[in-house]
Amino acid sequence: MTYNDDNIFAQILNKKLSTKIILENEHAIAFNDIAPQAPIHILIIPKGKYIKYDDFINKASKDEIYYLFILINQLVKNYDLEHTGYRLTTNAGKNANQEVPHLHFHLLAGQNLGKM
Ligand code: AMP
Repeated sequence: MTYNDDNIFAQILNKKLSTKIILENEHAIAFNDIAPQAPIHILIIPKGKYIKYDDFINKASKDEIYYLFILINQLVKNYDLEHTGYRLTTNAGKNANQEVPHLHFHLLAGQNLGKM
């Protein structure tokens, strides 16, 4: 599968589609999910063109990997989630019903999220 340059998150990265960026670093950005499933529902994506987790972890540089996860950790700190808890998930491919073919992590918090 090749990366589709027209996917929605690519458009956000290209600034073709406007979104309020919550937090950004050299290699990743975070913004609110358009259809939140919890009081806090943030998407974290790499700036590089990676379709899903395995694509990312197999091809990305150590810096890209580090900066993506450090951005998530920064959000956990900023929203004071260490104590209240949170859920971090990523949907990869067909069986997970991944909608947008650009790697993204969902950070959900702000209430009891129930069992998965
Ligand atoms: P997934 O099913 O894991 O691929 O999730 C894709 C997510 O992207 C869904 O939770 C959508 O609500 C979210 N989404 C789609 N378009 C946008 C957008 N323009 N801005 C923010 N979130 C979006």
